[in-house]
Amino acid sequence: MTRNQELLDQAEAVLVANYRPLPITLVRGEGCHLFDADGARYLDLMGGIATAALGHCHPKVTAALEEQARKLWHVSNLFGSEPKIRLAEQLVANCFADRVFFCNSGAEANEAALKCARRFHAERGDPRPEFVAFDGSFHGRTLFTVSATGQPAYWKGFEPVVSGFRFAPFGDLDAVREQVSERTAAILVEPVQGESGVWPAPPGFLAGLREIADASGALLIFDEVQCGMGRMGTLFAHEHEGVSPDLMTLAKALGNGIPIGALCATEACAEILVPGSHASTFGGNPLACAAASAVMTELVEGGVLEQSRQAGAHLEAKLDALAASLGDRVVEVRGRGLLRAIECAGPVAAVIEGCLRAGVLVISAGESVVRLAPPLIIGEAEIDTGIGVLEGAIREALG
Ligand SMILES: *Cc1c(COP(=O)(O)O)cnc(C)c1O
Repeated sequence: MTRNQELLDQAEAVLVANYRPLPITLVRGEGCHLFDADGARYLDLMGGIATAALGHCHPKVTAALEEQARKLWHVSNLFGSEPKIRLAEQLVANCFADRVFFCNSGAEANEAALKCARRFHAERGDPRPEFVAFDGSFHGRTLFTVSATGQPAYWKGFEPVVSGFRFAPFGDLDAVREQVSERTAAILVEPVQGESGVWPAPPGFLAGLREIADASGALLIFDEVQCGMGRMGTLFAHEHEGVSPDLMTLAKALGNGIPIGALCATEACAEILVPGSHASTFGGNPLACAAASAVMTELVEGGVLEQSRQAGAHLEAKLDALAASLGDRVVEVRGRGLLRAIECAGPVAAVIEGCLRAGVLVISAGESVVRLAPPLIIGEAEIDTGIGVLEGAIREALG
């Protein structure tokens, strides 16, 4: 029996079967490559679902983590800690936000954003129970965030969901105008919808949401958990539209794989979260913040944003060529930067398995969409190799 199979059997015996694991167990990573339990090497075009932005075991992030691991792990938020302050300074210096709240995941960051928005209005004596979110969105797996997720499969069976959510088609400003009222606390949107198939907001959509929010007194929340942190060639995806939110959530790539989430807030929103109003035991953990701080340094000062822009442009050109060469098998290629989708004419499970057998890791985003979210440091030769394998796998799976 292979070691991969042995580990698969062991996992099956003791883990909750809420995931459908692929038939390999990864044991080591280096840059854009991963190695399984039997020593096979894979090119990583999914980055742990848009998380390993600097690649696996990046030397500077690893060094920051090791250094912090010898100093201090956890003190609780009853104390300050240097890594937490440094990371907040870096975020505040590089986006619209005045202040940052740290937590441990994307769902928790969105949970904090939604709570903050309701309290913002309640504190002004203008309670606003409603939110407007979008069809096809994904905001996390807590009850509040599945309630905000415009895909019923994520909340079916968990009802009653949190009430007050209204949904509009993504990109449809007229529909948003119909849903927004003086009862709306906030509009919640991903600048690029990730899970439902990689849909960048149409040009002008975010600016339109800003106008609608301002006109009605609602807040605007950008969920950049997947699309943020350099993946679009800018530090944050909304920079492409020149529009700022009141609140922005981050997680996935923020810690390059170390669990951390952040709520970035304007002063007016931040001042709502007074002592006792919201908290997280592990939020702002020194280890996580030291790792994320090293990530921010690499992105802002280490040239990674420029690498991301170049790799994103190269990937786009390769995908256009792929679509042209595959004809009817590909319905559309779309996305931005290093978050891309190849919508195929049939289910892509066999495409993903074919890529895996040929040593390339990709993921889906819905039944017929292959999603690519490689590390931002990926080279052109690696992109070429990966797309070559993907083309073969699509031909094999879709005839
Ligand atoms: C992954 C994701 C989340 C949830 O993040 P978790 O860390 O899994 O809780 C929220 N929003 C978006 C856009 C995501 O892609």
